[in-house]
Formats: sequence, structure tokens, C-alpha cells
Amino acid sequence: MAFSSSVSSSRMIHSPAALAYQSKLNNNQNNKKIFHCRSFSPLPFISRLSYVSRRRKGESLNKHIMASVTDISVDKLTEEAQIPKGQMWSVHKFGGTCVGTSQRIKNVGEIIVNDDTERKLIVVSAMSKVTDMMYDLIYKAQLRNDSYLSALDAVFEKHQLTAHDLLDGDELAGFLSRLHHDISNLKAMLRAIYIAGHATESFTDFVVGHGELWSAQMLAAVVRKNGIDCKWMDTREVLIVNPTSSNQVDPDFSESEKRLEKWFSQSPSNTIIATGFIASTPDNIPTTLKRDGSDFSAAIMGALLRAHQVTIWTDVDGVYSADPRKVSEAVILRTLSYQEAWEMSYFGANVLHPRTIIPVMRYDIPIVIRNIFNLSAPGTMICRPPVDENEDEQIIDSPVKGFATIDNLALVNVEGTGMAGVPGTANAIFGAVKDVGANVIMISQVFFNKHRCLVTDYGEVKAVAEALESRFREALNAGRLSQVAIVPNCSILAAVGQKMASTPGVSATLFNALAKANINIRAIAQGCSEYNITVVLKREDCIRALRAVHSRFYLSRTTIAMGIIGPGLIGATLLDQLRDQAAVLKEDFNIDLRVMGITGSRTMVLSDTGIDLSTWRELLKEKGEVADVEKFTQLVHGNHFIPNTVLVDCTADSNVASCYHDWLRRGIHVITPNKKANSGPLDQYLKLRPLQRKSYTHYFYEATVGAGLPIISTLRGLLETGDHILRIEGIFSGTLSYLFNSFVGTRSFSEVVTEAKEAGYTEPDPRDDLSGTDVARKVIILARESGLKLELSDLPVQSLVPEPLKACASAEEFMKQLPQFDKELAKQRQEAEDAGEVLRYVGVVDAINKEGRVELRRYKRDHPFAQLSGSDNIIAFTTKRYKEQPLIVRGPGAGAQVTAGGIFSDILRLASYLGAPS
Ligand code: ADP
Ligand code: ASP
Ligand code: MG
Repeated sequence: MAFSSSVSSSRMIHSPAALAYQSKLNNNQNNKKIFHCRSFSPLPFISRLSYVSRRRKGESLNKHIMASVTDISVDKLTEEAQIPKGQMWSVHKFGGTCVGTSQRIKNVGEIIVNDDTERKLIVVSAMSKVTDMMYDLIYKAQLRNDSYLSALDAVFEKHQLTAHDLLDGDELAGFLSRLHHDISNLKAMLRAIYIAGHATESFTDFVVGHGELWSAQMLAAVVRKNGIDCKWMDTREVLIVNPTSSNQVDPDFSESEKRLEKWFSQSPSNTIIATGFIASTPDNIPTTLKRDGSDFSAAIMGALLRAHQVTIWTDVDGVYSADPRKVSEAVILRTLSYQEAWEMSYFGANVLHPRTIIPVMRYDIPIVIRNIFNLSAPGTMICRPPVDENEDEQIIDSPVKGFATIDNLALVNVEGTGMAGVPGTANAIFGAVKDVGANVIMISQVFFNKHRCLVTDYGEVKAVAEALESRFREALNAGRLSQVAIVPNCSILAAVGQKMASTPGVSATLFNALAKANINIRAIAQGCSEYNITVVLKREDCIRALRAVHSRFYLSRTTIAMGIIGPGLIGATLLDQLRDQAAVLKEDFNIDLRVMGITGSRTMVLSDTGIDLSTWRELLKEKGEVADVEKFTQLVHGNHFIPNTVLVDCTADSNVASCYHDWLRRGIHVITPNKKANSGPLDQYLKLRPLQRKSYTHYFYEATVGAGLPIISTLRGLLETGDHILRIEGIFSGTLSYLFNSFVGTRSFSEVVTEAKEAGYTEPDPRDDLSGTDVARKVIILARESGLKLELSDLPVQSLVPEPLKACASAEEFMKQLPQFDKELAKQRQEAEDAGEVLRYVGVVDAINKEGRVELRRYKRDHPFAQLSGSDNIIAFTTKRYKEQPLIVRGPGAGAQVTAGGIFSDILRLASYLGAPS
């Protein structure tokens, strides 16, 4: 069966560390003495301020009037009932989306059937959206809006249809009769609310809890249909909770344990389907564990049964390093400590109800969060961190495990010098807040009592501010306090991680990332446990801030935002090479290359997250906007989430080359095969180098000479290790190499040029190759790299374009006339041949005489330059160390693939300079 391999809890833990830890847990749990006496770890200071659930969708309905609507009797505990407890129990909780449709309920049934644990208790939420629908009924009835009746019909329909899909025979009849009965009770109750124009808290809790009653009964029937003996549990009969001051409840474990014993004695079963969310007060009044409370229900049940694991099934692969809806790059966290999970959920990661941790932590019961829609994902394990955590993993782990945010908050600032040295100020502030029953999420104090701020729900802020003003009226009037100010529209961003406590510099990095993203921080707090750093921001900045800090801690240091300029033949080939290799680089070397922009001379495409390289051509054609280099630069570099930017200039354009100075100054790395910058005006070239070093940027241009051959890097290697260049001599043009390698026998030079042109080895106008300018630029680049201060105009260049043909209007005209000049070159070749030599068109850097030239030279037949074939380049470095025999680099030095390969290897060089593993 499809689900079978993922259900057994022992098989859910895949990583060796988790396995080791699981066995440790098992040992601990076998030795009950150890974990029973283990004391509670104190929660961080901020955490202890308030445990209030912030998710109170039905809050406006909650008024403090009690009414008993069910009659749950508490008999004396039956002596003989002894529910077995411990390892044999597994607890699962299925969230609303897991049971959102009849098909999904069937899938859940299969998971339950395939769980081979001896005993299991399954906590189930209402079908997705049902709790909202139930709250909406009350809302409508309270407003005396008749549409509550049709809304109730919709609730009925939904469950009736689902039951018809799932059940038949007696099970169906039984369920439908119960559903009818419940709906008619609800109708009566809603009518009462309608008449009163008001719903009490317990009326509300009673109504909204029906979703769980129905889903649990349907699921139990489905499991029975699969041949498993199974009972459903109305947890209002078992879970006893005490309402606390602020919209939350505290479980009464000992009373709940007694009631569980009693329930079990009456309905013994190895498979129990229990309602999440709902419970009763000690007076047997139905209540709820408040919004999203089913996770909490599961944790309480897990603790009551001392289960070996609580598995929370939901619609995501586990706990992500940040809300995956807000940060697309968030990663799944394989393990979290109880404290980390608590802090993440408290500060807004709603994948887990914050109170879920406390009951299970008491007995060291691990919680595993798993995705019902992706059974192959191992999920996140929340447990006590192992003492002997693998040291290698520690190196890799980020000290910040995750980030979470809470929106819709407001800051209340109490300001004034009058607080300094006045004892009891904090007490007075908290007293005022307590009086209005508000939930303080965070407090912070600035500058010796001069300024205190508290963060509270936006809906409560007015009441809090009024209470503070009234409490401090005298101080305000006397000027000891200057004001109680409200800052609305705030959000909290929290960074959570147990290792933050022992890792210096975490807050500096966090604040630096926020500063770089231009985000203003309004208040800061750090839990005394140092497991969290919390900042208050403007609400509108929150997602940007979250992404900025997340990428700072989670993106690899070698994530590089790239802008590709000039998607011509070479640029396009590079983009295709990147497309094919990106996944391997990310997987094996942690190098994350993201092309954020591509610009041609007319159009450009840009993306915030990276362009899909399998469709870049279509994007540029269909969605391209008007090209604008400045806008392009700003957007590629303006992405604060990616730590590095490189612009790759694949043009041959001197206008683009003239931008390098500005790019380097702005901290943008530059990589190019474009020769224009390095062979352009000397003064500009000389400025580029120091600027690049000063701005800690990198400027790589390997592909300007010899395409992908390691020529610049070889030269740099020689120079940086203290060698002295005496001479560099080489065949630098693939075209001219080909022409002279083929200019043999009885062939005329024009014949060879025609053949090369037809084969596409020359520029469209072969004069561009024959003029020698391109070779001259390469010589200048190497000369300057070797320390010579030469201008292009200083270089004598022997052009192979006959003087009279320089003025030819077209390439065709030139080709037509070229045969007239064959004689001269034929004569030179003959003379060379007679002397046992060949003609080669070479560039020379003469470092001793500080000069360079480009010319046709003769070489002996056994000289390496005479042995070339095809369009190979060959470059000989004669240096102090390589004096007798030059160091020779030889190979194909032209062509889109090798040139793009040369640029690509510069990109990887950049990544390794930025810290990528080798
Ligand atoms: P359920 O109905 O199963 O209880 P919830 O909607 O309560 O599911 O919780 C799961 C949702 O929590 C996910 O769909 C996800 O969008 C959201 N979420 C927010 N923060 C996180 C996070 N850090 N990791 C995983 N999910 C998160
Ligand atoms: N059904 C309840 C809610 O939507 C409880 C839960 O699903 O956790 O809040
Ligand atoms: Mg939930």
C-alpha cells in the first residue's frame, strides 16, 4: 500500500543524527525515572510575559457569561480501569487540510490503518474552513442577519455530502442521524443568539467545536470500514481545562488523566479517533483550546498517554526556516529543539500552536511534523537536542534556525525622564496593561528607564494607551513623563536559534542585513535565554526584512546575482551552459548562481528571484522591456537578499566597457570577454585596477585572450609568485592561425581566405581579422598585465590587408580584389619554405624592451608555432624561470563554446574567491 512505508514512527527518522537521537530518546523513555524527575526548562523571559494565543478569529464573540449546554457527569473513578501508557502509544494529529475532502479523509484512514504501532490515538481537526464557517454562523446570528440559516444549511450540506461519499449502511445512517440532531440543536441555539443579539463565550465555543465532532465521527467510521476496531472520543468528556485570563486555557492534567481512565474503561480500544480543539471546563461546560488548538489537544493527549511520539500531519513538509508563503527560499528544518519550536510558533510560525510544546516536553516526547501530501518527506523532528550533536553538522548549521513574524501589532511608547530611578514603574505599566486584559508580546527599555515600549495587538493598543495615560496622568501632567505614544502598523520579526546563545556576532549580522536592505528598526529585545532576537519594524517593511535576514543566514555565501549583458552568440551560449550546470553547482558546491537580468541592446528582462534559463529567449522576445543599462544595474544589484552581484559583459562594446569603473565602485564584480576596457585608453585602465582592489571587488577577463585557454591566469600566476616576464609571443587569432596553417602547397592566400570565410571562420568582413587590430588588443592586454604601460597606438601592427583594399566599400568587393595581391604573400611563403621555415602571424610582448608588436614572422619547421593545426592558439611565456624552454599554452582559442566556457570558469573563480568549497 502506498502509505505503508511512512507511518511507522521508527521509519520516519531518516538522518543518522536523528536515528541516534531517537535511540537515545527511547532509552530515556524506557528509564522512566530519568525523565519523570527532569525539571522543566524555564522559558525565556519574553516568553513568560504572556502565553496568550494571538489568533482569536472569534474574539469579538467572547464575552464572559457562562452557560452549561451539555451535561457531562463526572463519576467516581472506576477502580478497575487502567489505561496502558507509554511507548506502545503513538499519537497522530491531522489538520483541517488533511481532512478537507472525502478523498482526503480516506487517505487519512489508510495512514491510520497502516500505522503498525500497537495502540494509537488520532486527534482530528474540523474539515478545512469548517471552523471559520461556524464562527461565521455566530457572527451572522449576533448581527441578526438571517443569512445564518443558509450558512448553517451549507455546513450541513458539506458534511452530508462527505458522509455519503465515505460511508454506507448503518454507519451512514448513524452519522446522518447525529448530524441532523446536532444541526437542529445548533439552529435553536443560533436562534437564541439571534434574538439576544449576543453570544456568550461558552455558547460560541459549543457551536464552533462541532466541526471536530463531525470529522472525528466520520473518520472513525472510515477506519472501522477498513476492518479496524476503532472508537471515537468526544474530548469534552476527557480534556479538562481552566480558562485563564486572556483568551486561553490551561489543561488540568490530573483531572484529564482521571477522565481518560474512565473513558477508556468504558470504551477500551487500540485505535481511538479523538476530536481536536474541544474540551470542557472543570464544571463540564464545553470550551475550546482556541484557534488552531488541535495541535495542543494532540500534545496533551500524547502527554496523558506518555506516547512515544506525536506526529502532526499538515500540508507542508515540516517546519521551514521561515513562512514558506513569504520566503520562497525557506528550507525545511530537520530538527528543532523544544525551545526553538516554541519560540518559532510563539512568534508567528503557525505550523504549530505555541502551546503544543509544553505538555510533550515534560516527558521528552518527540513531535514530528509531516506532510500528508508528500509522504516521502521525512518532516521536522522537535525534540530535546542531543548532547553529542555531530560536530561536522555544527559547522554547517546556521546559528539562526528560523525566522517568524507577527503582523497587526502596535507599539506603545512610554517616554520621559521621570521614570529614571523611580521604583515600580514597570509594575505600574504592567498593571495598567493587565487591567485591560491586553496581550503584551514584547517589551523593551531604552536608556535607563527613559523610554519603555511594549508591543501589543493592534486591536488592543487604544485601550492599553488609555489605561497607561490614566495610570500615569499625574506624571504626565507634571511633565515627568512626556507622552504615551502609539505607533500603529508594526510587525515583529524574530530570529530563533538555540545556537545563537553561543555564537558571537549573530545580532550584528542580523542588524547589518536589515540596514543593507534599508529597513528601520523601531525596537529590539533579546530573550534572556538568548534563543531569540526580536525586532519591531514597520509593517510594510516586514516581508522585505524577513527575506533580507533569511537570505543573509540561509543563502550560501556564494549565492551570486548575475546580470548578463549581450545575449549574442557568446552570451547565449553562456546562458545555456549556466542552465545546464546550475543544479550541479548548487548541489555539489553550494554555489547558487542566479541570473537576475539579461539585457541586449534593445530589450531586457529582469526578475527578483532569478530568470528561468530554459525560457530566457522567449522571455526576452515576448516580455522584454526597453533596455536601459542603469536601470538594469540597479535592479540586478538592488536585490538586497543576495550577497554578491556580478555583471557579465558579453558584448564587444566600448560603451558598456566604460561602465566597469562605476560598477566596481558600487561593489559589483565584473567578468567579461570584451577586450575594450583593458585595451582602451591607458589612463582609464590604470584607474580600474586600484579601484577594483579598494572596493574589494573582482574583475576577471580570462576570455579576452585565447577564449577559454588559461592565459591571463597563467600570466598572473607567474607574476604573483615573483617570476619575471621576459617575452610573451603567440598566435592569438584563431582565424589567422587557421589561414596560415592552411596556406601550404600550391594554394593561394586569397583561396584560403575565401575557404575560411565560407566556413564561417572569419568575421563577415575578413579585413577585421586581417588588419591585426584584434591581435593587437590582446597583445596590449597581456603587455599591461605584465606591467608595461602601452597604448594600442604604440604598437606597430603589420596589417595583412593590402593598402589599396583598405578603402573597399564592401567585404564582397574586398574578396573580389584580394587575388590581385596573392603574389606578395606567395613570395614570402616561398622564401620561408626555402629556408625550412613557415609563416605565422604573431603578437609579441617584449618586456625587456618594454614594447610590443604584431607581425608576420618566420619559424623553423620544428618550432612549436609551426606544428599547429586548425584554428589553435599558442602562447609561449619566456620568463626568468622559464628561460631555456618557454611555458607554452596551446589549444582552440576561438568559438562560442570555449569562449563561454572561459567566462563560466571566471564566474566559478569568483565563487571560489567568495568562499565556495573546492
Ligand atoms: P493545519 O490546518 O494542518 O493545522 P496550519 O494552517 O495551521 O495547518 O499550519 C500549516 C501552515 O503553516 C502551512 O501551510 C504554512 O503555510 C504555515 N507556516 C507558517 N510558518 C511556517 C513555517 N515556518 N514552517 C512551515 N509552515 C509554516
Ligand atoms: N478547527 C480549529 C481551528 O480551525 C482547531 C484546529 O484546526 O487546530 O481553529
Ligand atoms: Mg494548525
